Amino acid sequence: MNTLLLHCRPGFEGEVCAEIAEHAARLDVAGYARAKANGAYAEFVCSEDEGAERLQRKLRFERLIFPRQWARGRFVELPESDRVGALLAVLAEYPQCGSLWLEVFDSNEGKELSTFCRKFEAPLRKALDKAGRLVEDAGKPRLLLTFVSGRQAFVGIAPANNCAMWPMGIPRLKFPREAPSRSTLKLEEAWHHFIPRAEWDARLAAGMTAVDLGAAPGGWTWQLVNRSLKVIAVDNGPMAESLMYSGLVEHQRADGFTFRPRRPVDWMVCDIVEKPARTAALIETWLGEGLCREAVVNLKLPMKQRYAEVRRLLERIDDGLKARGLKVGIGCKQLYHDREEVTCHLRRL
Ligand code: SAM
Repeated sequence: MNTLLLHCRPGFEGEVCAEIAEHAARLDVAGYARAKANGAYAEFVCSEDEGAERLQRKLRFERLIFPRQWARGRFVELPESDRVGALLAVLAEYPQCGSLWLEVFDSNEGKELSTFCRKFEAPLRKALDKAGRLVEDAGKPRLLLTFVSGRQAFVGIAPANNCAMWPMGIPRLKFPREAPSRSTLKLEEAWHHFIPRAEWDARLAAGMTAVDLGAAPGGWTWQLVNRSLKVIAVDNGPMAESLMYSGLVEHQRADGFTFRPRRPVDWMVCDIVEKPARTAALIETWLGEGLCREAVVNLKLPMKQRYAEVRRLLERIDDGLKARGLKVGIGCKQLYHDREEVTCHLRRL
């Protein structure tokens, strides 16, 4: 049980290692991080038995940038037949769990295993119920079984209120047919991640105002309009005509980096692909000058030292806002829909 397993986007294993190692050092949890290139996961192997449990207790999963899911436990080898029996034997060392998710890594092997997992879930669930290993209780840990192959799985647990919101951290969002671009899902995912569902009606309310920088063709604007916000869409490119009929969108052909609204708005969102330092400065200006109350901004990742560089930029934004005497909550996550980027969320408190 001394290993913390962290899922991630393939290619970002190094970032996860750097991130978890930094937190572990700060929290005085001894151990080492390791990963295989493109494996879509990293491990933090703790020197002490309680190390992984301490990391899950001291860290908020949603605050981690690169991990998509986490679980503490260990890898186990499974026999060709009676995998259920073998898992039950291993689970004797684990606490009783309140829910079960079968997961795979976001790799080609993982995709191939999804069908196996779907078939395996029902008999496993039944056996766990019968053995009293699984009772429906949100207060109990979630059992997270990550299959590496039919013969090997990571048997892990995580607090149900301190792990990914969706299995493998992959949101199940339906692409809205009327939206003009697939990027629309990115803003929706950001809202799910950064705004508790119970607060959507207050923080994304009809009649609120928003500026969408780099808006064309309008996937993000569509999300805002869908919640009846009034949007100034800033882009030299064309906006989808269907959006303009809503009567809620004003299209401004202007440079998103110099555009300023006549009056402060509730929301600023920005999906312009730019150098991250320039985007960070834009964020500081909008929040710092009180041009918006809340923001979701795409931050393109630098080529090298991606974790260290993101941390440095976030600190710079935080220091800049503090120097102005402002209290701003800052979150940052590589969302499922993010590729070579992370998404930042800022809110004036
Ligand atoms: N969020 C949009 C959607 O959901 O449909 C997609 C945005 S696309 C990734 C980036 C957009 O930024 C492009 O339409 C591009 O024209 C615009 N853009 C690039 N540089 C810009 C700038 N300096 N000012 C305003 N828009 C810019």
